[in-house]
Amino acid sequence: METLQLSADAADLDKAAAWIKNGEVVGMPTETVYGLAADACNPEAVAKVFAAKGRPADNPLIVHIADMDMLPELVCEIPPLAYRLAETFWPGPLTMIFKKQDCIPAITSGGLNTVGIRMPAHPAALELIRLAGVPIAAPSGNVSGYPSPTTAAHMVRDMSGKIAAIVDGGDCTVGVESTVISFEDENTVRILRPGGVTQEQLLTIAEHVVIDPAILHELQEGQSVRSPGMKYQHYSPAAHVVLAEGDYAGFCSYVNSHAGNNTYALVFDGEGEGLSVPAMTFGKDDRQQAQQLFAALRELDERGACNVFVRAPEPSGIGLAVYNRLIRAAGFEVIQV
Ligand code: AMP
Ligand code: MG
Repeated sequence: METLQLSADAADLDKAAAWIKNGEVVGMPTETVYGLAADACNPEAVAKVFAAKGRPADNPLIVHIADMDMLPELVCEIPPLAYRLAETFWPGPLTMIFKKQDCIPAITSGGLNTVGIRMPAHPAALELIRLAGVPIAAPSGNVSGYPSPTTAAHMVRDMSGKIAAIVDGGDCTVGVESTVISFEDENTVRILRPGGVTQEQLLTIAEHVVIDPAILHELQEGQSVRSPGMKYQHYSPAAHVVLAEGDYAGFCSYVNSHAGNNTYALVFDGEGEGLSVPAMTFGKDDRQQAQQLFAALRELDERGACNVFVRAPEPSGIGLAVYNRLIRAAGFEVIQV
């Protein structure tokens, strides 16, 4: 299949919406990462998303809406706290899990009786949902297991020839995926995946915000999960990634004494001095690190890196999401330096 490369202007969004209405898959920009967009209520269209990504069938897709009227048509039992969160964080990088209605097919929800809903903040995504006139299922647009795409070029690399079109809406501004939450009781939410909306931000609306232990720790064999995505290897470039916790001096001496062929360091802006291996940087604060992380991991592959030592960010604020992606990219290989 030839993959059309489209802009985000009105005429091209019309074309992209027509593909979606016809049951095809389109690369869609959002503020978090690029997604693979299909009509969430059309099982054949959603099957094409799973095929393009090579995604396990039990890992559900998030459904994207453009206005609040769409919400009660897709889900039931919406707690008042959800409306308060939506008022503050939608459109934006927050996904809320609800009991689903029958119009969401089992393939979309990975066989669960729940579904994650989000209203994205990117104007092209909102316009595409409105023009298509359907809720849009959209997982991250990477091949399953690889770092998520944050530019149209990343999507072209992963999806060219597999989907109908890719809409170029520029570089993603958030750069990590949405925060996924479930509701525990009327005042408590649980973070199942950290993302663009932080625990601190959620606490301005919800009384209690629980961080699921699987966010920071490797699952033990037989342990059950609250979110299927927690089971799978994620965000990994071809290079072998090791996450190093500790100060910069300790990082340099460890890396310099463990440098092999094609070893790289991924460090923060302003660092790099004192290293005997080539260094790439990924931002000076947690927001920039989130925005640049996936592009940096992809770039290391382009440069032919075999081993990459990465400076660990503080796991607070949006840094929790960056840290969560990095421990998974590293297959939980975390060292103290
Ligand atoms: P992605 O589509 O790549 O952004 O990943 C979506 C994430 O949300 C995965 O980790 C899923 O397991 C999680 N997710 C989606 N729907 C649900 C749901 N109904 N219950 C729990 N987790 C979900
Ligand atoms: Mg993903």
